Amino acid sequence: QVVTMDKIISLCRRRGFIFQSSEIYGGLNGAYDYGPLGVDLKNNIRDFWWKEMTQMHDNIVGLDASILMHPRVWEASGHVSNFSDPMVDCKVCKSRFRADQIDLNAPCPVCGNKDSFTEPRNFNLMFETHIGANKDSASVVYLRPETAQGIYVDFKNVLQSSRVKIPFGIAQVGKSFRNEITTKNFIFRSCEFEQMEMQFFCKPGTEDEWFPYWREQRMNFYKKMGIHPEHLRWHQHGPDELAFYAKDAYDIQFLFPMGWQELEGVHSRTNYDLTQHEKFSGKDLTYLDPETNERYIPFVVETSAGLTRNVLMALSDAYDEEKTPEGDVRTVLHFHPQIAPVKVAVLPLVKKDGIAEYASKLEHSLREDFVTFYDQSGAVGRRYRRMDEIGTPYCITVDYQTLEDHTVTVRFRDSMQQERVAVDQIVPFIKNAMKN
Ligand code: ATP
Repeated sequence: QVVTMDKIISLCRRRGFIFQSSEIYGGLNGAYDYGPLGVDLKNNIRDFWWKEMTQMHDNIVGLDASILMHPRVWEASGHVSNFSDPMVDCKVCKSRFRADQIDLNAPCPVCGNKDSFTEPRNFNLMFETHIGANKDSASVVYLRPETAQGIYVDFKNVLQSSRVKIPFGIAQVGKSFRNEITTKNFIFRSCEFEQMEMQFFCKPGTEDEWFPYWREQRMNFYKKMGIHPEHLRWHQHGPDELAFYAKDAYDIQFLFPMGWQELEGVHSRTNYDLTQHEKFSGKDLTYLDPETNERYIPFVVETSAGLTRNVLMALSDAYDEEKTPEGDVRTVLHFHPQIAPVKVAVLPLVKKDGIAEYASKLEHSLREDFVTFYDQSGAVGRRYRRMDEIGTPYCITVDYQTLEDHTVTVRFRDSMQQERVAVDQIVPFIKNAMKN
């Protein structure tokens, strides 16, 4: 079952995952706010990626470069001259389209007028702003359209300060901005978004070993995150898609509600970027191999994923509407426990007879280890449903038996099975369950 985008959007709004930006003013296209649950989901995916890429590999270091960079960076990278999409406007209703995404001989899809399109023209996707008090052309800077250039520009700094040796990688997570012409499909394509990128620097000639290695690593990452393997596939760039300097490029595609679309790119980029920055900056960006004394500009294998697009993937992949044995339907997000915003909900069966106090104390004692949620209002069945809908993997229920023998019920989100566990064993029990 593939969920519709409308259902995802409605759940996100209703439960506080994601809101349209500036909603009370009518909203701003292509900009979104991550609400209380959304920010935890996004941070959890980011942390999962960061751990996988840096902690689990012995040769990847981190970086957090600034969003504003010297304007020459974007000349060197080719973004000033090439980072554009072909655009047309409808002369009648003023709607704007990507020329490569509509049939220019058909009527305008918005107002239905024929022959109403302007000639296609190139539209640069970089947002421009000004630094300093003067708004002249000398003060123009851009909001970065990708995080990768920060890594290239700091390549030498990292090399000289952190004792890394080739092969090594630099990982970075951060905001990027693109003045996208079409921003439909919720957070899939927005003007402000986050990327998780890693540039792996290797000796020329070894890129054909590292490229399949990183492709495998990246696909495994999504499987480790619990994404259904049948919702993931590879797409190799054909000759018309491949950048002129790239040796090979694959995208990991995910089956989003609107169909198969790119989630992440794994690209073999040769030494193009560093060579360009050496040319434009006049600084030596070569690497001196300490063993062979060879000097070269390293080749790069890049893994480039959208973090906000990962959030949409996680929501779409986890969403389900299931018939319960009682005959009603429950909406459930089957998140991997590691990325679920709330891990443990504590629910007193009733409020009276000291049960609520017991449950509240238990919930406080779990905060050191888990993100918890306490809920004492309404029938317990409805409280379970509320937790299913936000993907909470474990609900702990405190009842009369608890007062006698200090055991509680742990209810599992996916199987809806329940198990009786001693209160003093709860932390290791949940930690263990999260691993399986
Ligand atoms: P597309 O063809 O979809 O515009 P792209 O090939 O230009 O994407 P890259 O420049 O390779 O994308 O960016 C790497 C990743 O960053 C993409 O795989 C995607 O996950 C994410 N990304 C790119 N643009 C956006 C955007 N406007 N909104 C959200 N995520 C984005």
